[in-house]
Formats: sequence, structure tokens, C-alpha cells
Amino acid sequence: MSTEIPYKIYLEESEMPKQWYNVRADMKKKPAPLLNPATKQPVTSEELEAVFCKELVKQELDDTTPYIDIPQEILNFYRMYRPSPLVRAYCLEKKLGTPAKIYYKFEGNNTSGSHKLNSAIAQAYYAKQQGLKGVTTETGAGQWGTALSMACAYLDLDCQVYMVKVSYEQKPFRREVMRTYGANVTPSPSTKTAVGRKILEEFPNTNGSLGCAISEAVEAATTQEGYRYVLGSVLSQVLLHQSVIGLETKIAMDKYDIHPDIIIGCAGGGSNLGGLISPFMGEKLRGEADYRFIAVEPASCPSFTRGVYAYDFCDTGKVCPLQKMYTLGSGFMPAPNHAGGLRYHGMSATLSELYDQGLMEAVSVEQTSVFAAAEQFARVEGILPAPESSHAIKVAIDEALRCKETGEEKTILFGLTGTGYFDMYAYEKFNDGKMSDYIPTDEELQKSIETLPKV
Ligand SMILES: *Cc1c(COP(=O)(O)O)cnc(C)c1O
Repeated sequence: MSTEIPYKIYLEESEMPKQWYNVRADMKKKPAPLLNPATKQPVTSEELEAVFCKELVKQELDDTTPYIDIPQEILNFYRMYRPSPLVRAYCLEKKLGTPAKIYYKFEGNNTSGSHKLNSAIAQAYYAKQQGLKGVTTETGAGQWGTALSMACAYLDLDCQVYMVKVSYEQKPFRREVMRTYGANVTPSPSTKTAVGRKILEEFPNTNGSLGCAISEAVEAATTQEGYRYVLGSVLSQVLLHQSVIGLETKIAMDKYDIHPDIIIGCAGGGSNLGGLISPFMGEKLRGEADYRFIAVEPASCPSFTRGVYAYDFCDTGKVCPLQKMYTLGSGFMPAPNHAGGLRYHGMSATLSELYDQGLMEAVSVEQTSVFAAAEQFARVEGILPAPESSHAIKVAIDEALRCKETGEEKTILFGLTGTGYFDMYAYEKFNDGKMSDYIPTDEELQKSIETLPKV
């Protein structure tokens, strides 16, 4: 049977999902509600609508509707770069000499180079529907800003991006891709916003952080007429849009009667992992099937494996709602790790709750081992992976090697979230043997965890 499985499994257009799946609908114990940071009461839709688009607020607060129709215009956009291929990693299996069967879902086949476009087009679409002039956002490594620029250009919306300063300087090409698609890009912290000026006063030499850029983007949205803020990860609405990854994967696997034993994804804010596992997790929650799910995070920013499950701010400036999640504290400034997209202090509320219930596992890995896995993968499978994605590759290889020892023929599925063409500075560091593995001490983590808000 296995020899009949093609290298790449594509879907026909007619087989593609027409609805997103909301995994919260199948959770008996739901993620904790977002709280207003001032009153500590659950946020209302009116409060959220001052910051976010109306329809997206509805999706954010909806934890009961299992399937939500994907609007036709978004389906049309998806067809320009979807379905993404589900690849059987025959060459990697052979190289490793493992009896395991390895599959990956590759989300890098679009100009922005990652899965983030799946939610960017949805968020831009709802902003347009609402008659807004534009949206504001933050970007770390630049993938989200790039994806949002593409989506906004397509729908003729203004796009203002606050880019973490260190990335703005280290990744000029990403910045130029955004500007090519018409976005306005500002290094953060900046003097354009009150919160940026305050952070600069306190930390004049800061490299910036995602939490800080979020605060600036939120301020920019709420102080300009006709603008709302959009976020590329963490929020439940983003997990919902990213469920298209898991739904396509499930349809493709069902076609060939493939049942994954282990599903692996890298976790920054949790959106690609949440999207990939959603339909499978739904089956597990409904008692229809069982799977092992593994979140992989960098040892330099270990929210799941060393954080606490508590209410925290989503941003450094403390302007966003409080979310209950696995967190290292909103003031945590991770060491300049090369997987920029995984440097967020917190985690999706949905994934946090699933992890807390023991339905999911998490591991952390050091960046040199991640780049070693990335190169091993690139040399046999051809694709140059993003450093973020390579966290999942590392653990997929570890699991496949374990199968080699035990002789088990497990089926392993992992999410390959993007390409690494804009990360050659990081690859250069690794190739020159100059990459280090910074792991925060318990004392450092304790210091930022102590600053969590009292709820
Ligand atoms: C942003 C990003 C991630 C991490 O974000 P999640 O929300 O955790 O998915 C992973 N891989 C790539 C390529 C990214 O751009």
C-alpha cells in the first residue's frame, strides 16, 4: 500500500475545504475568557470592536460554532496558492534509515513564504467588508507583515507595519518586500507613538520585541479614524483561519487511508500548530480517534515548557486584553534567537488550555540542533526551511530515529510552515560555527514571571 502513496498529495479544487473548523466548539472546558486589563472583567464585544474588526471579534468570542463558512472572495484568494502540498518525505526516511513514515504539509509556496497568508487574507477581507481605510500591525521576523502587505494590496487597503527594530535592521529584504506591496514600515520602538516613546525612554538601547511592537500598532489603530489592528498569531480567530492547513491535510490523508500517530508543529504564538492539529484534535476530543500532538518551541523562549499558566498581558505596553495562557511574562526579552517568529512570551489560549488538560505535549530544542536538522532536511528533500519550521523538523527526525531503534513503523506528520530564503544571515552564523545556544536561567524567568498581573 505504502508504495502507492505519491511523493506529493494535492487536492482537486472541488475537494478543498469551504469552511474553517473551530476546535473550541468541541472542548468541554473552554479557554478562559479575555479580560479587560482595567476592570479584570471579561471583555465585551463593544470593547474589542474599538481595536479589532467587528466580524473578527465575533469569531474571537465564538467558542460554540464548530464550522464557519469561508467567504467566496477568500476562497478565490486561497486558490492562487492553495491547496498546499502534503509531501511524503521518502528521501528523508531513506536517509535516516527509519521504518517510520514521514509526511509534511508545506506552507511556503507563496511569495510571503509562510502559512501566515491564510489568516492575513481573512483579516484584510473583514476589514474591507467593514469599510475601513486600513489596518495596523506588528511584525517580528517579517513573515506576518509580508503576508498582510500582500493581502492588503490585493484588497486595496492601507497597511501600516511596526517591525521589531532588530529585524528591520537585520532583514532589509523582508522590509522591502512589504514596501513593494505598498505597506508603510516603521522600526519599533519608534517615536511615532506615545507607548514607543515611553519604552525608548526606559530602554534606549532596546532591540525591540514583538510585545512592544504590538503596543505601538494598537495605539496607531485606535488613534486614527478608519483603522483597526490585526494580529498574525496567538488569537483564537487566527487559529480558526489556520485550520485550513489541518483540514486540507486530513482530506488528503483520508483519501489514502493514512492515520498519523504523531503530529508535530513549531509553536510561537501557536497558530500554525493549532491550525494543523485542529481537525485531528477535534476527533480526539470527541473520542473518535487518538493522536500524539507535540508543540516544539525554542529553548531560548520556552513558554510551554518553563512558563506558567496564568492571566498575562499580550503586549509589553499592557494595552491589550489579559489572556490566560502559558507565559514567561510580558516583560520577557528573549535572547536574539534566529527563529524570530518563535520569540513571543505567551501562547494561544486554546492551545494553552489543551496543553493544561494533558491533551498535548511540548518540548524545547536548542537552535544549533535545529539548524543541523534544517540542513539535513534541505540536503535530501530540497526545500530550504525557515528556522521556525525547522524546530518541527528536528523533533520529527528525533521521533523517526526513535522508531529506528524500536523498529516501530509509526506515521509522523509535521508542519513545514515556510521557507528560509530571508534567513541566510542565520544560516551563515551556523555554517561558520558562530551560533550559540542561549538558554535563560531560572532566575531570569522568575524575574519576568513575578511581574504577572494579579487577577
Ligand atoms: C510566524 C511563523 C511561525 C510561528 O508562528 P505560529 O503562530 O506559532 O504558527 C512559524 N513558522 C513560520 C515560517 C512563521 O512565519
